[in-house]
Amino acid sequence: MKILVINAGSSSLKYQLIDMDTKAVLAKGLCERITLEGSKLNHTPAGGEKVVIESPMPSHAEAIKLVIDALVDKNHGVIESMSEIGAVGHRVVHGGESFSESVVITDEVKKAIEGCIELAPLHNPANLIGIEACEKVMPGVPQVGVFDTAFHQTMPEEAYLYGIPYEYYEKYKIRRYGFHGTSHNYVSGKAAELLGKDIKDVNIITCHLGNGSSVAAVKGGKVIDTTMGLTPLAGILMGTRSGDIDPAIVTFLMEKENLGINEINAVLNKKSGVLGVSGVSSDFRDLSQAAEEGNKRADAALKMFSYGIKKYIGSYAAAMGGVDAIVFTAGVGENDCATRADIVDGLEFLGVKIDADKNSLRGQAIDVSAEGATVRTLVIPTDEEMMIAIETERLTK
Ligand code: AMP
Repeated sequence: MKILVINAGSSSLKYQLIDMDTKAVLAKGLCERITLEGSKLNHTPAGGEKVVIESPMPSHAEAIKLVIDALVDKNHGVIESMSEIGAVGHRVVHGGESFSESVVITDEVKKAIEGCIELAPLHNPANLIGIEACEKVMPGVPQVGVFDTAFHQTMPEEAYLYGIPYEYYEKYKIRRYGFHGTSHNYVSGKAAELLGKDIKDVNIITCHLGNGSSVAAVKGGKVIDTTMGLTPLAGILMGTRSGDIDPAIVTFLMEKENLGINEINAVLNKKSGVLGVSGVSSDFRDLSQAAEEGNKRADAALKMFSYGIKKYIGSYAAAMGGVDAIVFTAGVGENDCATRADIVDGLEFLGVKIDADKNSLRGQAIDVSAEGATVRTLVIPTDEEMMIAIETERLTK
């Protein structure tokens, strides 16, 4: 079965066509500037050169049509006809409390996704547009929604409620939801495989560290706590997002700097994090270089990042009554050996010990624990598209 995985943004659309029999990615690509001037499709068939197709995309439906055309093209296509696509899997950012699992899309499901727009105003509308565009271009092909929030729906009340009047939870559904669930789900499953254990028998702390970052406590395959909250702004320090701060800072800054709601949102989402602290960059490669050259603020930003994650590892180990493995994934987690070493430095009391040589490898699934470690430290490349394809196949086969 071949599955098309779609990640639709407001003006972009990423895709991968995956052959589930071989788990091979047949082609992938990105439509840029949908609804805008100068829209183009970057399409890369497996083992082939990237092709850039410049064509107007007045809506997501035209973008999907161009993707299908590229997939069946005589020169750079990878399938004979559209009928080879057995199902489409969509990344949907927010499923609220309605979805604790992936689902086959129906009119009712679309209504529920629409109902979550308030919780993810930038993402859910685009995800819905992507679904409707596929329905239009590929009528009859089953569509599945895979939610970033779903894997975290197993959190108990004490982890997801906030200490604000309960009526706001009832009225507005203000609670912790958590994000990157597809990634935490994928790498925790892979970690259990690597440990040679049933996921039901292990406590795992998964650290998804990229431009956006979150940590999750996965006990017996179920999330019991995670760092992101109502929105992906909460938790650990990120590339440009503040993570957790004293909430009183918000009103203090609004008053002192005369900022409106949009401006304070921009400060916390786009100008904060390691970028805001360092004044250098949100990219960890630039930060390491700056710190090496003696930039004190870049050094402080890197230390804050590692320290914050170390604290969550300690607290999640306590929350789960012990930990069997810590997993690092995503751009920083998979590639930044120095940051990994910094995060686990001092966690020897928990039984965490890494091997410097093994830890110097990047971009592959590997156990980097040193001899004598009782808690394994694993690096596992994430693959959200594969997870979406697996879920889509499970629900449609
Ligand atoms: P992601 O959001 O998962 O794509 O991660 C993107 C981030 O990964 C970038 O902003 C970089 O900070 C980081 N990154 C990627 N490659 C490396 C590397 N070799 N060393 C350190 N950081 C890296």
